[in-house]
Amino acid sequence: MPSFQTSPGTRDIMPPDAARWRSFNAIFADTVEAAGYGCIIPPIFEDAAVFHRIGEATDVVAKEMYDFDDKGGRHVSLRPEQTASVCRAFAQHRPTTPWKVWYTGPNFRYEKAQAGRYRQFDQVGIEALGVNDSDLDVEVISLAWKFYQRLGLSGVQLVINSLGDEGDRAKYVDALRQYLQSNQDALTPEARQTLDRNPLRVLDSKRHADIEVIAGAPTIKSFLSIEANNHFEKVLNGLRMLEIPFHQNEYLVRGLDYYRRTTFEFVSTALESAQNAIGGGGRYDGLVQTLGGPDTPGIGFALGLDRTLLACDAEGVFGAPKSSVDVFVVDVIDGRQALVVTNRIQDAGYSADRAFDARSMKAQMKSADRSGARFAVIITSEEFESNNCIIRDMASAQQQTIAIKDLVDFLARNLGAKIPRRLTP
Ligand code: AMP
Repeated sequence: MPSFQTSPGTRDIMPPDAARWRSFNAIFADTVEAAGYGCIIPPIFEDAAVFHRIGEATDVVAKEMYDFDDKGGRHVSLRPEQTASVCRAFAQHRPTTPWKVWYTGPNFRYEKAQAGRYRQFDQVGIEALGVNDSDLDVEVISLAWKFYQRLGLSGVQLVINSLGDEGDRAKYVDALRQYLQSNQDALTPEARQTLDRNPLRVLDSKRHADIEVIAGAPTIKSFLSIEANNHFEKVLNGLRMLEIPFHQNEYLVRGLDYYRRTTFEFVSTALESAQNAIGGGGRYDGLVQTLGGPDTPGIGFALGLDRTLLACDAEGVFGAPKSSVDVFVVDVIDGRQALVVTNRIQDAGYSADRAFDARSMKAQMKSADRSGARFAVIITSEEFESNNCIIRDMASAQQQTIAIKDLVDFLARNLGAKIPRRLTP
């Protein structure tokens, strides 16, 4: 028989790690819903042209799309990110503004798989559409910052820059291209290739030779319009008011072409520099219009779930929760009583597990131990004849006999009252 493995760049998220993912998402939802963001669930694939708006010259579009013709001949793509989908949804449904949404879920990019870089990876993110106010930039950044703090991360750096408006950016790209072209000989062949496609991307190079050239490159700051500059100064002031530390980096351009004005990235100091970006975002004031909607400003961020958890591991925070149940039911008669008692405990709002296959008392008690249960309920023929069971405190090993009908009351006294899962008559 063939033995199958996950495809390169994909992983099984096994228990208890998957439980950690769930609480990651729950903490994120709680953080952003507290600021009025509503959950949106866009489709996982859509018209590939939607994603082409990210920028034809970006690696994401030019090299990494999982696109194909479906059986109806439509050219579709698995989403490589969700901002374009959210903007497409805005253009399609025209909700009233400000429109503030959050999302979570997998994205797909055909990348060279390695630690911290996957072909299927998850992101959580927010997008806020219809507001020019620089205070919104501050709100968006502060929500990511708050979230990292709630995870317990302390080695996160906020790096920020302004890319100006479309005109500013175009003038800067021209100046940068000229500078890089006149220093071509000192660049690596990879950077020379990138230069032909998109000079801004050269600034992302982590190769030593390129870094030396980049150090002398013109920066965007002197190309910013007065409005873009004022906007940026107000954002920085707002961050100071909220006591969020930041580093300005005039070479921060980020991977996607649609960014305007405020651009930012979160870097983990606990991770290797090649894969240390754990999230990022910025303004994308022209994007909705390119997707057929009205001219609408927008700003958002996406945080890499996989990579943020690697940063948590590196800092030793936000570990996988220990899975445990409240009660483990041991039935040494024939298992039928365990069926009824486990069911009743679960309906009363507690968690309960049991053993199967009529295993020995010893084997069942071993399972009870492994389950992490606070109490074992032990049903023997002798006790059952008088409708009783034994309840064992797994930590202290103290045992007592109680009536089976009083089990839920016992749990309420010892574990606190729970909301029943099913209202019993
Ligand atoms: P981007 O959508 O490219 O702005 O990326 C935002 C964040 O998503 C990055 O900072 C990473 O944390 C994460 N990310 C992007 N691509 C990948 C990938 N291939 N594997 C894992 N995480 C990724």
